[in-house]
Amino acid sequence: MQMRDTIAAIASPVGTGGIGVVRVSGPAAGQVLARIFLPRSPRFTGFKPWTLHRGRALDGHGNVLDDALAVFMPGPRTFTGEDVAEIHCHGGMALIGLILESILASGTRLAEAGEFSRRAFLNGRMDLAQAEAVAELISAPGREGVLLSAAKLDGVLGRRVNSLREKLEDARVRVCVAVDFPEEELECLSRSDFLQAVEDIAQAVRELLAGYKRNRCWQEGALVVLAGRVNVGKSSLMNALLGRERALVTDQAGTTRDFLEERLLLDGLPARLVDTAGLRESADEVERLGIAACRRCVEEADVILLVLDGQEGWTREDQALLEEFGPERALPVWNKSDLALPEAGSGMVCVSALTGAGLDELAAEVRRKVLRHGGGDGGMRVDGLSPNLRQAGALALALDALQACASDVQSGMPYDICALHLDAAGAALAGITGLDGSDALLNRIFSTFCIGK
Ligand code: GDP
Repeated sequence: MQMRDTIAAIASPVGTGGIGVVRVSGPAAGQVLARIFLPRSPRFTGFKPWTLHRGRALDGHGNVLDDALAVFMPGPRTFTGEDVAEIHCHGGMALIGLILESILASGTRLAEAGEFSRRAFLNGRMDLAQAEAVAELISAPGREGVLLSAAKLDGVLGRRVNSLREKLEDARVRVCVAVDFPEEELECLSRSDFLQAVEDIAQAVRELLAGYKRNRCWQEGALVVLAGRVNVGKSSLMNALLGRERALVTDQAGTTRDFLEERLLLDGLPARLVDTAGLRESADEVERLGIAACRRCVEEADVILLVLDGQEGWTREDQALLEEFGPERALPVWNKSDLALPEAGSGMVCVSALTGAGLDELAAEVRRKVLRHGGGDGGMRVDGLSPNLRQAGALALALDALQACASDVQSGMPYDICALHLDAAGAALAGITGLDGSDALLNRIFSTFCIGK
């Protein structure tokens, strides 16, 4: 990937819409615009920066493709930090494709996935956490996800992480001085001061990690697993919750061989709903593999909907499953309520996958359980400090290193050995903002972005 070349891509989603946007970034952006866009105004004397111009978009032979709008934004105060041009045309798939073709033929190349954001990062327009926030905002499953990612756009998380790295540097410098003057080691930095400094940073890291835990289900979606004996109606319930046929429903045992996963909102809570194969012993090899995969899913679930067949009532097997899953995560769901109802006062959520009765109550109960189980008070805090999964992984590494450091300091290890943990913690934190941005890391992150972003 070279930054001297000019890239172009369609920035609007694939499909037909009112408007489509083609984006160009790089040193030739202005020239490309001049070549493929013919302004209408007789008073036009050149593209006025940051101003929408109306005109005709042309193909390479001078044919008019559309009556469109164009804007030229000179770097470095642009998204990518480079000269950027955008054509806002009508949103037809063939039309947008032809405009892109015309732009590509004028000395640009097609952008790779995430290349605009990658350039923004490499040109210092945003740190890695901000670039990820943009991607999170685009894929946010609901209102809360949008608010949480939007709060991260201006880089609060990166600034907090950088301030922790500065504190680490500070401690590192004091350790170096102490190591250089071994006789006065304890005078330069007493063990208790060293310990306190490490503990303070570790506490700040713990708070950031708590932010991840608190907001995780709003950002990634809660994992909700349908489990229970065969034929109790798990697949039917999945279809009913989705409002469409997704899972195969038969009255033959063992029809769901692997697991199906679908995203949906349950009472506004973003969720990944998984339908598992019936949890039962099986001689069939394929079915056994499916069941093993299901068990792994169940282990990670935020809530397990333990579906039971209302007609058969609560069986010993259901009881065994409830004990296996634990009351914290398991939510017994009485299905087939159109055929039979539980005794009054059972407190069970009753649904009928067939008629749709009770589905709203079920969704509300899942939401309550996830928030109680996952987020303590279930409160979401929109402060721009909710790390994503990758960032939480880096924070956990940093915390491990800080705890190892604290324990070495306490057990009287030489300061230079203790300080190695500080370096490890610093490196882990640097990964959050991308300061240590190895190509492999950047490739992994930006390749998950869409083309045109
Ligand atoms: P799974 O093995 O747990 O996934 O069960 P299925 O969803 O395949 O359903 C098993 C059988 O129960 C099918 O014949 C469904 O039509 C039937 N069934 C599922 N839910 C209901 C319900 O709410 N009411 C009634 N009457 N039948 C249902």
